[in-house]
Amino acid sequence: MTGHGPERSLAELIEGNARFAEGKSLHPRQDARRRAEVLEKGQYPFAAIVACSDSRVSPEIVFDQGLGDLFVVRTAGNLVDDLGIASLEYAAAHLGVPLIVVMGHSRCGAVTSAVEGGEAPGSLSAIHAALAPSVEKAKHRPGDVVDAAARENVKSLVAALGRREGVLKGLVDRGALSVVGAFYDIERGSVEFIG
Ligand SMILES: [Zn+2]
Repeated sequence: MTGHGPERSLAELIEGNARFAEGKSLHPRQDARRRAEVLEKGQYPFAAIVACSDSRVSPEIVFDQGLGDLFVVRTAGNLVDDLGIASLEYAAAHLGVPLIVVMGHSRCGAVTSAVEGGEAPGSLSAIHAALAPSVEKAKHRPGDVVDAAARENVKSLVAALGRREGVLKGLVDRGALSVVGAFYDIERGSVEFIG
C-alpha cells in the first residue's frame, strides 16, 4: 500500500500539475536510484490515471511525477473497455491505489472526429460509438462542442467506474477508493478537477 488516502493522492497531483503548468517541474524520481528502488521494493503507485493516447497529455509529465508513481491506462479518447477496467481493478485491488482519475483534454482529436461523424475506417468506428452519447449531450451545452463532449465523456466514465460491480464499487463503498474526473487544458498546461 502507498500509505496515501485519496485526498493525499489528489493533493500530490494538484501540486505536481501546478509545478508543470508554471514551468517549475522537478522531474522527481526519474533517476537510476529510483529505478533500482522500484525494482527492489516493488511498485506502489499513489494514483491511477485514465488518459488519452494523445502525445501531448502524458500523465507523468503533466503531473510532474516519476517512476512508480502513476498507474496509467491510455486509449484515444480516454475510453476504457473491459481490459482497461481490468487494469484499473488490478491497480485498485492488488496495488492498493486509492484514487482513479479519468482525464479528458481540450482539442481532443478522438472527440473531434466523433463530433464530425461520418465514415470511420477500421476499428475507429468503435471510438465514435463509445463517444456518441457524450457528443449527443454536448450538442445541447453552450460553448465549444468538442470540449463539452470531452467533459461529458469524463463524467460518464467516472460514473460508470464508480458503480462498476465486482471490484471497484466495493472499494468505493468502503471508502478505500475514489474516482474523480479531470480536464487538461493543453494550451495552459493546467488540469481542472471536475468531480
Ligand atoms: Zn485526445
